[in-house]
Amino acid sequence: MTTYDEWPLKKLKEELRRRRARVSGRKKDLIDRLVAYDRMCLTGQEESKREYQMLRPDDKLYKDVAGSVIKTSQEFVDQFLLPLGTSLNKLAMDMYKDRFIRFIRFCKTESFIFVRAQCRAKMRRAVTYTIDIKLEQDGYFLESQCECKAGEGPSAHCKHVRACMLAILDCSNGNKMVLETTCTAELQSFHRPKKIHYGSPIKTANVPSRSNNSKLIFNPIPEQFNETPSAVYSRVANASINFAANTSANPAILQLFPPANLRAVYSDHDYNKLSPEDQFLESENITAINATEMQKVKTATMGQNTNKIWYSERCKRITSSNFGKICKMKKADPGKAAKELQSVKQLNTKPIRHGQRYEFKAVREYEKISGVTVQKTGLWVDASRPYLAASPDGIVSVDKILEVKCPYSSKEQIISPVTVPYLEYDNNGQLKLKKNHDYMYQVQGAMHITKTKKCDFAVFTLKDIKIISITYDIVMVEEMLKKLDDFFVKHFRRVYLERYLYHESY
Ligand SMILES: [Zn+2]
Repeated sequence: MTTYDEWPLKKLKEELRRRRARVSGRKKDLIDRLVAYDRMCLTGQEESKREYQMLRPDDKLYKDVAGSVIKTSQEFVDQFLLPLGTSLNKLAMDMYKDRFIRFIRFCKTESFIFVRAQCRAKMRRAVTYTIDIKLEQDGYFLESQCECKAGEGPSAHCKHVRACMLAILDCSNGNKMVLETTCTAELQSFHRPKKIHYGSPIKTANVPSRSNNSKLIFNPIPEQFNETPSAVYSRVANASINFAANTSANPAILQLFPPANLRAVYSDHDYNKLSPEDQFLESENITAINATEMQKVKTATMGQNTNKIWYSERCKRITSSNFGKICKMKKADPGKAAKELQSVKQLNTKPIRHGQRYEFKAVREYEKISGVTVQKTGLWVDASRPYLAASPDGIVSVDKILEVKCPYSSKEQIISPVTVPYLEYDNNGQLKLKKNHDYMYQVQGAMHITKTKKCDFAVFTLKDIKIISITYDIVMVEEMLKKLDDFFVKHFRRVYLERYLYHESY
């Protein structure tokens, strides 16, 4: 027998072409094919003797069979096979059921249906034969041919042709054809172990690992630089910090490492529309606030100095009681003033205790005199400058707030500019609040923030009560806002970021 193994690929292909056989596949497939042809004595000479070649459409016009696109019947099959002395016997059935047919394609022309299939040889599965069958539109079998020795057309009835007819019948009956399954047609089964492990489970520590466990923490420094003092230091620091972060433990060694430079961290993240600082301030409702949040703050801070949230919300902002101090501030130390504003300090001096004690009584007294009901309220945040806030002592009407003062030093006295230094007489001999006093800044600021135009300023002593009507002064407020904006941008903002974003020590 010819030793095809020694033939170069080119020669193998030439020989296959000479025999009008397929030349596709790997070298081994070509050799197998030639050997199979030899075995069946399909030498070139014999092959060329084949006179019949079915006229059929171009390969490109064939389509995959989907659904029952070919209609035929057992009757038509019998009409074709019985005169040739054969039938769809067990041999053909076994071949079909054992998935020897690789694929079936079809092509419908105006008057015929052409079926083209590929079937593996019974003994050498590497060898495949191509089968062509021609039917009429109604499913009547006209012609057939097969590449095998017995498959000469136009009425080939070899086992391959008959297996193919079984497939066509299945298709016609709407059944799924039994074809060779490829690995891609199956569900994936990688997760199914090939061998089941019946021993006891392996401990994680003993699972063989490709990498050395000591290198679990990735260190990009080349090994020769690993033992320099700074490399050792950073390795120990990283290991300690990672350990603390992963276990939420607080090992004493952490005391040795300075905190991260948050300013550097945040300056690295400059790709957003807003800087990290501005984002933080917005999220804190200090530079931006919506109506819902404003209302939330107002409700949550009801009760003012008896409410913890009132203190924390106040610390984030410049409150109206400090407006005067800030606006009148000389170049002393605005940073220090900003720090003071932000510290939660609950002053507990006698005047403050006195004020807190009598405020309620003063409001009752005011209600009695003016014949109104005063509504309690919480912290009001300014809508356009959320870093400004005010806590009026009460809401009298939609357009009027109440501010109550209970001066401690004159608690037993009648109210006059002598006993209460922030008051003075106007040209008509009426008591009024001094324009330049901090209380005026407070009241004007509170009116601006609560969007009211009037304020009743009530001074209360145990012997006397005076109510002074103050109206909104837009000129003064605008002057004041300019200075407050300036203070916020230059000092308050910086101090707040240092404290709450960068966590710098205070
Ligand atoms: Zn055949």
